[in-house]
Amino acid sequence: MTKNQSIEKLLDLVKSYDKKADLEMIRLAYDFAAEAHEGQTRKTGEPYITHPLATAFILAEMRIDPVIICAALLHDVPEDTNRTLEDLKENFGSEISSLVEGITKLGKLKYRGVERYIENLRKMFVAMAEDVRVMIIKFADRIHNLQTLDVQPEPKQHRIALESLEIYAPIANRLGMGEFKGILEDLSFKYINHEEYERVFKLKEEKLKNKQILLKNIKKQTKEELEKTGIKIISIHGREKKLYSLYKKLLEKNNDIDKIYDLVAIRIIVPSIADCYASLGILHKLWTPLKGRIKDYISQPKPNYYQSLHTTVFTDNGEIVEFQVRTPEMHDEAEFGIAAHWHYDESGSKIPKKDLRWAKELAEIQKDILNRLSDLEEIKVDFLQTRIFVFTPKGDVIDLPEGATPVDLAYHIHTDIGNKCIGSLVNENMATLDTKLKNGDVVEIITDKNRKGPSRDWLKFVKTKSAKERINSALRKQQQFNIVNWLINKN
Ligand code: MN
Repeated sequence: MTKNQSIEKLLDLVKSYDKKADLEMIRLAYDFAAEAHEGQTRKTGEPYITHPLATAFILAEMRIDPVIICAALLHDVPEDTNRTLEDLKENFGSEISSLVEGITKLGKLKYRGVERYIENLRKMFVAMAEDVRVMIIKFADRIHNLQTLDVQPEPKQHRIALESLEIYAPIANRLGMGEFKGILEDLSFKYINHEEYERVFKLKEEKLKNKQILLKNIKKQTKEELEKTGIKIISIHGREKKLYSLYKKLLEKNNDIDKIYDLVAIRIIVPSIADCYASLGILHKLWTPLKGRIKDYISQPKPNYYQSLHTTVFTDNGEIVEFQVRTPEMHDEAEFGIAAHWHYDESGSKIPKKDLRWAKELAEIQKDILNRLSDLEEIKVDFLQTRIFVFTPKGDVIDLPEGATPVDLAYHIHTDIGNKCIGSLVNENMATLDTKLKNGDVVEIITDKNRKGPSRDWLKFVKTKSAKERINSALRKQQQFNIVNWLINKN
């Protein structure tokens, strides 16, 4: 084993950021998984349990909520062992078991043609929409699989790396999880284009070698100047640009590394927004800023909610350095994004809550992915394109064919709801029953218990087969009822 991870070390790590963590539960999850996977080995030759343990470590290193850590330890149990989801529910309760269920639903990657692949993607969107924590675990799972990808045959290496780069990393980005996005990209890059990876790696090393002393001095000077004015610095550190993101920049800049100013950025974390702007002023007094390189992402956050102040300055000997200034909250959001809800900061815990903010992003994420996939020749996207995801007011996600209406949704929920529906609220606005629903809509069905049954007109606009069948069957019953009534009245 390369990493020498153990359950004891995991427990110590979790305890270090969550004093109230249920360590016994984590240990039980580990024991349960270890026993269930007993006798199984990975392709690396190590016992299988090293994989869920490593997955849990990746999350614990990001100071993630213990419930998610438990689910990570158990994430491959239902799929790969004879223990069932029911067993998990009995032993660990419904929250942990439903998280594991979400991961199990995503399924293992079994490439059997394009259809299967797209089907997997669709499942991923549904699982993600139901509980975004599933995706957080999936990212960690994927990161460890990428870290041990060397043992896989080459075609599989390429496939997994490509999928991570084209699908997982953009989703992580959309969810604001900068840290995961960067790791996923760099691990995949190595397998997608090894030569370029090596080239960029060496280029960066070379360039940084000459910059370290300069950066050290700049940091020292910055620190002194800020402290002189009474600004409390929570942290000041250099942050190196990740390889894949450097590679993409290089392609834009004609491979001229001297045009890339944020190869190393100096990141300053200060207590308040006022301190951020004050720090920027001091930096600009010290050194001349480059024109057009001052970016205020505090007043105008990026679409994924990223906030910081950026500026690039000429330092004394003419070297160019970028600064990023932010508060601790902005830093958390930048590194962990949506996962920040389950991330423990220095002051204690954050309360997990169902957050519909990102659910609205789902449509955008999907568009993103589709655009990417349409560049990949081997993948046809028609299948995915014909599905939409809508939400019930409770936040449950339901996938329907494109063009589906509230009536389709009503029948999807329950035949009775379909038969009794009289109207709907789409994103809290009244909408007619033939409204074409869109990705990300929140839809509430209004029913009337006195309604006799469906209208024949509905058949003209419903999209799902099941709605059609149920309407027809209800209409037939109505007709029989009418005939009987007519016969009775006649006599
Ligand atoms: Mn796994």
